[in-house]
Amino acid sequence: MKSNMSTQLGLVIDQERCIGCEACTVACKNENQGSVGFMRVRTQNAAAKDVPVGTFPELRMTFMPLVCNHCDNPPCVDACPMDAIEKRGDGIVMLDREACDGCRACVDMCPYAAISFDEDKEVAEKCNLCSQRIDKGMEPFCVICCEGQAIHFGNLNDPEGEAGRMAGLETAFQLLKEKGTGPSVFYCPPMEPRGV
Ligand code: SF4
Repeated sequence: MKSNMSTQLGLVIDQERCIGCEACTVACKNENQGSVGFMRVRTQNAAAKDVPVGTFPELRMTFMPLVCNHCDNPPCVDACPMDAIEKRGDGIVMLDREACDGCRACVDMCPYAAISFDEDKEVAEKCNLCSQRIDKGMEPFCVICCEGQAIHFGNLNDPEGEAGRMAGLETAFQLLKEKGTGPSVFYCPPMEPRGV
């Protein structure tokens, strides 16, 4: 990696490999001890999880794990009156549960519904990209536990790294890019089905 390269850590999700098993959801809840798992897996364009889209025999079921996008311009940071959310130098948007006063302003401002609220402890909570692991040189736990090896982690600004390379693919896309938040989670859509 070049020394003058800025860092934006993020995730690239390969939808060709995601089988919707929710191992990432369980891994996240186990690692982060949140009141919920911060990763949610949806079936893309479907009314409910595990419901196919289309008309038989042209059916598709494409899974889409959703999580904090560690935005370049995170509206949650400005919304917090307690300065409990900050963007680190490596791009992780951190929410400090200890500093949260429970006002829920960030919950309302996040366009990705990525911030949940712990009703028992009365604090907001979200994915901190497993910063506790990253700071020890490990990958986020969802990346490690993904059955299909569908989640790639790394510096999205490094085109020589796998995550940066995949984020740069022509087909890769971000969610709600038009909002100007600069999401740091990319999705690579599945390949078209082969003909018979
Ligand atoms: Fe904040 Fe939501 Fe962006 Fe995450 S996805 S950085 S919670 S605005």
